[in-house]
Amino acid sequence: MEIIQHVHWIPGIVANPYLIIDSNGLTLIDSGIPGSAKKILNYINNLGYKRTDLKRILVTHADFDHSGGLAALKQASGASVYASKLEAEAIRIGRSSRQLKPEKLYLKVMYALANRYAKTTPVQVDDFLVDGQILDVLGGLHVVDTPGHTPGHLSFFAPAANILFVGDSMVSDDNGLYRSVKDNTWDHVKAIESVRKQAALGASIVCPGHGPVIKDAVGKYPLV
Ligand SMILES: [Zn+2]
Repeated sequence: MEIIQHVHWIPGIVANPYLIIDSNGLTLIDSGIPGSAKKILNYINNLGYKRTDLKRILVTHADFDHSGGLAALKQASGASVYASKLEAEAIRIGRSSRQLKPEKLYLKVMYALANRYAKTTPVQVDDFLVDGQILDVLGGLHVVDTPGHTPGHLSFFAPAANILFVGDSMVSDDNGLYRSVKDNTWDHVKAIESVRKQAALGASIVCPGHGPVIKDAVGKYPLV
C-alpha cells in the first residue's frame, strides 16, 4: 500500500516492512518474521519489479520479527544488508541483540522461551551504518541512532519526504504513538532520549514496526 509517492507499506507481515522505490533500485526497511520473504517478493513483483531490483535492506534492529526474512531475501535478490554494528553482530549469529530482565514472572518465562525459539538464520551484514550517515535513498535518508528498545537500534529519516521510520522505538495504534513498552525495552532511559531526538526531527509521517502509519505525527510524539 502506497503511503506517499515512492514509499510503500507491505501489508500482512509482522513486523511492518517498508519498501522505497528510487531510480537507483528498491530499498527495504526491515524484513518481517522468518517466512516473510515470499510475501515481500510477491509485493515487489506485483508492482512490476524483479526480485533483483531489490538492492538494499536496512535493518532497524536484530529482533526476529525484523530480521527473520533477511537470509531468504538476500539469497533471492542479492541485496546488500545494512545495520548498526551492534545489531549486525546479533544478526550474524541469528539472535537478539539484548538480554531483557523483566520483573513479572510470566514475562520471564515468555522471554526465556523467545530466546530459545525466536532464532533467525544467521546473515552476514554487508556494511555497518552510523548515526548521521546519509544514504542515497529517497532524496537523502539519514541514519539516526535510537537506542533503547535494543542497544544498536536505528531509525531512518528522509527530510525531503518528511517521513521517519522508527522500527520498535515507538509503536502506534489508531489513537497515536507510544514508546517501546518498558518490559520489552533494553534501556528505558535511552528509549526516552531517543524519542526526544526523533521528535526534534519534526517528521509528520511516522512509520513504526508495529501499528499503523501515523500521518500527522507532529505533537503526538510520546515525550513523557
Ligand atoms: Zn518488533
